[in-house]
Amino acid sequence: MALDLKKLVRPHLLKLKPYSSARDEFKGQADVYIDANENPYGSVGDGNYNRYPDPLQLKLKEEISKIKGAEVPQIFLGNGSDEPIDLLVRIFCNPGVDNVLLMPPTYGMYQVCADINGVEAVNVPLTADFEINKEEALAAMNPQTKLIFICTPNNPSGNSLDRDTILDIIKKAPGLVVVDEAYIDFSEQPSFIAELTRYPNLVILQTFSKAWGLAGLRLGMAFASEEIISILNKVKYPYNVNIATQQFAMKAILKTTQKDKMVAKILREREWLIEHLQEANYVTKVYPTDANFILVKTTKGKAIYDKLVEHGIIVRDRSNVTLCEGCLRITVGTEGENLALMRVWETLAL
Ligand code: PMP
Repeated sequence: MALDLKKLVRPHLLKLKPYSSARDEFKGQADVYIDANENPYGSVGDGNYNRYPDPLQLKLKEEISKIKGAEVPQIFLGNGSDEPIDLLVRIFCNPGVDNVLLMPPTYGMYQVCADINGVEAVNVPLTADFEINKEEALAAMNPQTKLIFICTPNNPSGNSLDRDTILDIIKKAPGLVVVDEAYIDFSEQPSFIAELTRYPNLVILQTFSKAWGLAGLRLGMAFASEEIISILNKVKYPYNVNIATQQFAMKAILKTTQKDKMVAKILREREWLIEHLQEANYVTKVYPTDANFILVKTTKGKAIYDKLVEHGIIVRDRSNVTLCEGCLRITVGTEGENLALMRVWETLAL
């Protein structure tokens, strides 16, 4: 499919002359760098942070490229995957004119970023079993639909959405389709990264915040065509990923087995929790999950949440969210945390 990206990008950004940093202007090797108003003596505290970071994080991208199967020019890195979500809305959606298509219940930031940017969010709820409402989604699209956000595995329901349906939507979308794979490492489903070469309107989001255990580091990834990535790079803050994050992530990537072991533990704990959560008489459904959390439908919702808080256990109350009446979202914790939850769970006097 041919994609004319120039018709999708907000017109003024096509002409944007991006900020040019000192390192953009001189890329060679030199003995004396006195071009960026940095402190030549070093940093206060531990570490060497007196120089600005590589704006394009090329070394880190090379390592990410090896483990993700995307080429370096197809990778964007941001301050969490929340950064590319916001950038995509800002780059492609003209406020008051264009719209984004969302499928609630889903990750809240898509709606928030649309709202912040004055962009209409057209909501086509998932079906009762949290699958894409394909006919309605297709009917809701119009030429102003610049972005369609699809979260799989979906937050807060936990299930992976039907792959063929997603592919069909990608084929028929008038704009870009953003497949958010924040929880992909907990799932056996293949990533959509392998589809990038086939679909120029596809953007995939992943993050170091979940399986890698690096939520506090703030490092998110977007994978897309070179053309889309270069527009993201033009609009982002010049130094959006700091040196500490770049260096730490490079080391983490060399320890993939540690990540795999943690994921395996989380998956074992997930099974244990699924088995035990159903034992309480107020639980009406434990939804299938491909993520590191479990959505549980109860007859009491908020009352259970409040009781758990009294016992020092905090879950996420989702009972007011579309299609999630009475639901709590429970993140898989450590063995000890899960045991603590279950000890209280079955004895709650409501
Ligand atoms: N996408 C989804 C589906 C999420 O649940 C989250 C975090 N809760 C994010 C993106 C954002 O993650 P981060 O900014 O930490 O990469």
